[in-house]
Amino acid sequence: MRKIRLGVSACLLGQKVRYDGQHKFDHYIADVLGQFAEFVPVCPEVECGLPIPREAMHLAGEINSPRLVTIHTGIDHTEKMKSWMADKLDDLEKEKLCGFIFKSKSPSSGRFNVKVFGADGIPVHKGVGLFARAFAERFPLLPVEEEGRLNDSALRENFIDKIMVFSRWREYEENDGSAQGLVEFHSRHKYMLMAHSSDSVKTLGQIVAAQHRKNMTETQNRYLAALMNALDYKVTPKKNRNVMMHIMGYFKKNLSADEKQELLDLINGYVDGLFPMLSPLTLLRHYARKYSSEFLLQQYYLNPSAEELQLKYHV
Ligand code: SF4
Repeated sequence: MRKIRLGVSACLLGQKVRYDGQHKFDHYIADVLGQFAEFVPVCPEVECGLPIPREAMHLAGEINSPRLVTIHTGIDHTEKMKSWMADKLDDLEKEKLCGFIFKSKSPSSGRFNVKVFGADGIPVHKGVGLFARAFAERFPLLPVEEEGRLNDSALRENFIDKIMVFSRWREYEENDGSAQGLVEFHSRHKYMLMAHSSDSVKTLGQIVAAQHRKNMTETQNRYLAALMNALDYKVTPKKNRNVMMHIMGYFKKNLSADEKQELLDLINGYVDGLFPMLSPLTLLRHYARKYSSEFLLQQYYLNPSAEELQLKYHV
């Protein structure tokens, strides 16, 4: 599998670029994700021309269009940052990223709930860092996360699914791009998508089926937007049980009563937190192989790569 290209706030990789000359090294990103990803580090504050060390800054003013100002002297760096961002976003477009991990709380890089100070000096935790906002506006479908949120297993698993799917999408676009290729892409993701949102399988299937009426670029754009929207829905053990029961339906008739019961016990035990998801998944894969279900064996859901497993479950 080729390495996944990810943008990352440079301080999370150990670069000493913060206002105080320090870094915010993140072990999971650098050492675990780093085995399978190619990073494109970005430090908006240093790259726009500010020194190290520098006076700390915060966001001030309107929540949706705040200014980037130094905390003590009140110097406004908003325009400096904006003029750098225009070229930087063009450069990042060429990097073919599959996602971005931002540093939380930063007035430049924070993606969620960054403090914005109103005229009364009281902070509201609803802002977005200047660069993170511009990035999301320019690349609205690219998966983005913050380092702290990746400690939450559900958010982490969702993000890993998204960047893996995005990476496969880029491969499809670059090496194939055909109508038949889209049918195969959709088919192989069927059960992974169902684990996120069963409705989305139908919606995406309709986009694929209608492709002969549209031009390919328009179909691909519609498909990708619906795909990333579907992956926003979190996978839960109950949704996984639903998917596993569907898969079991392919070879239910081939199983003895004992084998069926064993599989059901594993699936329910996983939902109850007694076994890892890999236990029922391994047995399902075994039966898919034994009863030669090519369609099932092609499913990314049933055949997660070693990289995917490590990224999702080893922090
Ligand atoms: S949070 Fe962003 S702007 Fe601040 S040091 Fe890290 S990369 Fe640079």
